[in-house]
Amino acid sequence: MFVSGPDTRDARRRVVIVGGGVAGLDLAGILGRDPALDVILLDHATSHVWKPMLHSIAAGTHDVAQVEVPYVAQARHHGFTYVPGRVDGIDPVTRTIGVAPFSFHGRELLPQRTIDYDTLVLAIGSVAAHFDVAGVEEHARHIDTLAEARDFQAHVAPRLVEAAQTGVPLRVAIVGGGATGVQLAAELVQIADIADDYGLGGGRKSLDITLVDRGDRLLPAFPERISSAARTRLEGLGITVRTGVDVSAVHESGLQLEDEVLPADLCVWAAGVEAAPLAATLDTLQRMRNGRVVVDNHCRSISSPDIFAIGDCAAFGGSEDGSPLPPTAQVAFQQAVYLGRWLPTIVLGEKAPAFRYRDLGALVQLGGYDAYGALGQFGIFGRGFLRGRVAQAGHAFLYRRHQMRLHGIGPALRLWLAERIAGKARPSSKLS
Ligand SMILES: Cc1cc2nc3c(=O)[nH]c(=O)nc-3n(C[C@H](O)[C@H](O)[C@H](O)COP(=O)(O)OP(=O)(O)OC[C@H]3O[C@@H](n4cnc5c(N)ncnc54)[C@H](O)[C@@H]3O)c2cc1C
Repeated sequence: MFVSGPDTRDARRRVVIVGGGVAGLDLAGILGRDPALDVILLDHATSHVWKPMLHSIAAGTHDVAQVEVPYVAQARHHGFTYVPGRVDGIDPVTRTIGVAPFSFHGRELLPQRTIDYDTLVLAIGSVAAHFDVAGVEEHARHIDTLAEARDFQAHVAPRLVEAAQTGVPLRVAIVGGGATGVQLAAELVQIADIADDYGLGGGRKSLDITLVDRGDRLLPAFPERISSAARTRLEGLGITVRTGVDVSAVHESGLQLEDEVLPADLCVWAAGVEAAPLAATLDTLQRMRNGRVVVDNHCRSISSPDIFAIGDCAAFGGSEDGSPLPPTAQVAFQQAVYLGRWLPTIVLGEKAPAFRYRDLGALVQLGGYDAYGALGQFGIFGRGFLRGRVAQAGHAFLYRRHQMRLHGIGPALRLWLAERIAGKARPSSKLS
């Protein structure tokens, strides 16, 4: 089933991409069309999902079976090689990467391996940052990966049903008032509403959600107007929002706040962003405190000319105020498109334009209840706001555009149609 990793080299330049997420999988598909390149994509997962969907997979409002893209199939159709495994070391001097043994459903299929590269692209994404808060690792759940989102769903579904049956609400504390925490809170309310519709009872009364953030408002990356509208909407859904509150520890039974304990049956850590763990091992590359690899205006590491970094794991200083671009799907996508077009030119030492980020705005969706959008500098309407169905359509469009890029317009339209038809025939949510 899997390609174990090429051990022979041909004359083509070998480009190894680590991470098949929003940026890496898109880039692999573009570069795979170039006959002068031998493109290898590594990922420790066997399938890709659009990460901005993980909160809905975690809540169970989206069935993952409909949206997974197996890497083997994608590689077969788009001219690159997929190698499964977690990269656990990179040596820029010998230009080799170490790949940990790979197990599939508990069986070790591939041993520890070494793969060499001419050009390496890091697209390993990010995880929530723990800020050295005690107990996060042991007692909080995360939804940074598909595996974590699935685990979360499997954990929450029976407890929600139990809460509906017993009448004792499930107490959920979510730390982090950014897009992930806000969207997860709304999706959890939605799955409780769906459970009620299915006749399980309980509804919103079976959930007691508190969203905690140390900042003075939710969604700090959005304009104030969207923060306060989202807060009002969440509170209307029965969610308690507490801002300006520091979490000093996570216990098995809740959150330690400044001078009180917030009891919770389930704590979710969705605060802060740092580069995926591999970045912490890359001692020879210049990185920021949060592990993001510092890159130049061609998305190339400023310490190692054979290594590029894109998406959440890269620190590209291209914001209006000179700070690194935000870790968003929009940045990841634009950097993939840029390197897809210019990487072959850059590695030959020829002149290429600098990457320029076009801020098209940001969207946040509160389940099926509402959505908000702040249009960026390059939006058709200038710096404006969206709300409701238009914003929901914009949010859905981001995913559809991603599908079109991965599969082509025709197959993406067929997938959309198939989802619509399946949605009419069976429930799209998952309470099993
Ligand atoms: C719940 C949630 C909701 C979000 N909503 C939005 C939104 O609405 N809008 C928006 O713009 N952004 C949103 N984001 C952020 C967005 O998902 C990221 O900015 C985007 O996915 C970054 O793309 P990437 O390619 O850099 O990383 P990712 O898409 O995270 O991909 C990284 C890949 O690297 C692989 N990987 C990591 N380490 C290794 C290793 N050592 N070896 C092999 N493979 C490895 C991972 O398996 C993964 O496939 C959301 C994020 C979350 C978690």
